[in-house]
Parts: sequence; C-alpha cells; structure tokens
Amino acid sequence: MAFVERRVKEEIRREVDLRPGIRIAIGLSGGKDSSTATTLLHDIASLRRDVELVGITVDEGIASYRPQGLEAARSLCVSLGIEHRVITYRQTVGFEMDRVVTLDADAIPCGYCGVFRRQALNRAAREVDADYVATGLNLDDTAQSILMNIARGDVDKLARLGPHDVVQPGLVPRLQPLRMVPEKEVYLYAMLRGIPFHDASCPYAERAQRGRFRAVVEQLEAASPGTRHAIVSTYDELRPLLVEKFVAGTPRTCERCGEPASDDLCKACELSDRLAKLATAG
Ligand code: SF4
Repeated sequence: MAFVERRVKEEIRREVDLRPGIRIAIGLSGGKDSSTATTLLHDIASLRRDVELVGITVDEGIASYRPQGLEAARSLCVSLGIEHRVITYRQTVGFEMDRVVTLDADAIPCGYCGVFRRQALNRAAREVDADYVATGLNLDDTAQSILMNIARGDVDKLARLGPHDVVQPGLVPRLQPLRMVPEKEVYLYAMLRGIPFHDASCPYAERAQRGRFRAVVEQLEAASPGTRHAIVSTYDELRPLLVEKFVAGTPRTCERCGEPASDDLCKACELSDRLAKLATAG
C-alpha cells in the first residue's frame, strides 16, 4: 500500500503544483480506479491548505449499470466530505446510452459514449471552476490508449492524451494520478484499504475496441514484464515533440454547446444530430 501511495504522490507532484486555492474536479464513476484516485487525492489535499476537490459523476443513462456506480460515488464523497455533482447525457446531448444502442444498433457504443463523456466531464469541470480534472486511468488503460491511437494512426489524439501541461482555452487540463500504477495493484489497494466501489462492467463494454488492446497489452506484459511501463515511458519521452507539432493553436468553439471543437460543431453535437436523424427516421 505504501508503495502505491508513494508512486501516486510522485506522479501528482510531477503533473501539478498543488498551490493554495487550486480546485480539482475528479471524474468519479464509482469504480475501483476513480474511487481510489479520489481517496488518494483526498489524503494529499487534506495535508494542504486550500486544495478543493469536487467529485463529478457522468451518468451515461445505462439502467443496468450506472445507478449502482452513482450510489457508490455519492457515498464515497459523503464519507470523505467532498462535494459531489452529477451530469447526465440526457442534459448534455439529449440521448441516454440505452437509447443510443437501439437507435444505432450497428455502431460500437463506446464510439458515442467516449465522445459524450469527454464533453460532459469538461463541461461539468468548467461549471465548478476547476483548474484540473483528474481521472482514474491506470497504467494498463494508459498503455492501451497509446497503442490504440498508434494503431488507428490518430497522431492528433495521441498528442492530446493527458496528463496535460499545455493549457488550451476551454479545455480543463487532465490529471492522471494512477497512470503508473498497474490495474491489479489499484484493485488490491482498494480492497486492502477498504475503499467501497462498484465492481461491475458496463454491459456494452464487450463491443469495445479497447477490449482487443487490453488483451494485447496483457499478452505483451505476460511475455515481457515491464512492457506497460516501457510503452508509457516511451510515450512520455516523445510527447513534447508531439505536443509541439499537433497541439499548437487555439481550438474553435462549438456553435451550439460552446465546448471546444475542431469544426463549426463539436464531435458530441455532430453525433447527437446523427442520433436525432435516426430517431426521426425510425
Ligand atoms: Fe460507455 Fe463504452 Fe464505457 Fe460502457 S464501456 S460506459 S458504453 S465508454
């Protein structure tokens, strides 16, 4: 446990200066990763003056899954004395994920959900005047994201992965306190420390592309221990070059929702338009 705590403290120190008055929103799903990140950030914040935390749960509208996570998130915030807010896809894009999967049955649900979540979390973090938004991404998640973006040839997105040290207008920079802690160690830490969390998988996760990359990273790690760290460390070495080349400039603002966008409309508004057309056609 002390080893995990030390690595998280080091990572936070590397990513952010916890100056007095800083406000950190935490994307808190109620699962093991975000609940552990919240607890550890709370440990660190309680030793400092004026570091404020706000838990934000994004409710995707998945009836068989989200209510239990929401409850876990709410009770963790109550027990730690942290403000808790909820933002729903119904509020932000007008469609719940349970509806999305019926309207666009051939699509991979996470293709919608990932875009909607980024927008919702950024919007909620801005609404609470957060300086940063922390997520529970662990080492496995981080290595998977790097490989996924390389395999898709999405260099632009690769350059924009958190943690962010270049602040872009309208985008609340990300912190990833657990990014050097393997998933199994996060799980073990949460169990040993008695952190309550919702231990379940999203019913739509099996259709996610990420599952294939999860398997690849696990195989590579089993064959050559240390692969996950090597992937992330290599990315960190290359990141300044990627950021310089691909993250320069000010993002545009979505004409409809005001969130950062690369076109007239942001990706979330484009997808919600697509859903609205499908709903009308159906
Ligand atoms: Fe959304 Fe996919 Fe995660 Fe389910 S697995 S919550 S659909 S991103």
